[in-house]
Amino acid sequence: MAAKLIDGRKVADQIYADLESDITALKRKGVIPKLTVVLVGDDPASAVYVRMKAKACEKLGLISETLTFPASMTQKEILQLIDQLNANSNVHGILVQMPLPDQMDANEVIERISPEKDVDGFHPVNKGRLQSGLDAFLPCTPFGVQKMLEYSGISTVGKNVVIVGRSQIVGMPLALLLAQKRNNADATVTICHSRTKNIDFFTKNADIVIAAIGKPEFITASMVAENSIVIDVGVNRVEDPRSERGYKLVGDVKFDEVSEKVQAITPVPGGVGPMTIAMLMYNTVKAAQE
Ligand code: NAP
Repeated sequence: MAAKLIDGRKVADQIYADLESDITALKRKGVIPKLTVVLVGDDPASAVYVRMKAKACEKLGLISETLTFPASMTQKEILQLIDQLNANSNVHGILVQMPLPDQMDANEVIERISPEKDVDGFHPVNKGRLQSGLDAFLPCTPFGVQKMLEYSGISTVGKNVVIVGRSQIVGMPLALLLAQKRNNADATVTICHSRTKNIDFFTKNADIVIAAIGKPEFITASMVAENSIVIDVGVNRVEDPRSERGYKLVGDVKFDEVSEKVQAITPVPGGVGPMTIAMLMYNTVKAAQE
């Protein structure tokens, strides 16, 4: 492998080390940051993510609470629950694990969370604040990508950054974050999506390619430039008869061939995933400070 591997677990550990003094200062004031996660239904992947979040809280000495409900939970019930959590001063961060069952309106649920407790950074108030360049809870995955680049000594200033994917939780907020006039941003950002013609044209001319597509191994070696940096946000389950669980996780980047060509790359797993959780911890501590 020619490329430098950007190890998300190592960077996440640095974020945790940096958070320690803030957590100690809060504890001296009698405050232990508390994250409440709401899990509705029995989606196995969601259950794994929720467990990982609880484990990270435990590691840092934060309080974590997971409230689980059957898939039959109604919209009215979840809105009432959020009202109670908003009013509970012991709860600093509220996270509703997505996806929610079909009968629920996820946007209404997100909007009901108090913006001051919206540690996922999905509330329209936090999105608007991000867009306006104001202090906000930043969505954890885009924030994690930005921090990962910063901690790895990779400047985005004046760079051509191409983001493939324009979702509301990854691509779009990441583009806003990296295009801002501020430290660790100042990039020239292009967003590609399913209607973009000749994606290769953009990715080949990029200094940094960020893949957030949800399509296994979509970005191949012929689509990237030799000295570029590739960040793979994708997490896809693909069948693997050799694995005990019957599947393996791969990213949106064809790692084996792209890593032979580019300057630096993130692995899947062990790249952006740990950073997403680290930034959730960061946001939870921030919520307790406010
Ligand atoms: P999403 O909501 O499905 O959005 C996918 C985006 O990719 C859309 O903008 C879509 O374009 C674009 N796209 C789809 N097919 C394309 C194609 N053939 N060519 C170009 N663009 C295409 O997905 P998401 O929630 O952003 O997640 C993306 C990936 O990141 C998934 O694998 C997800 O599991 C992973 N993820 C990882 C983390 C983490 O912590 N590591 C966190 C969140 C998500 P249109 O807008 O035109 O449909």
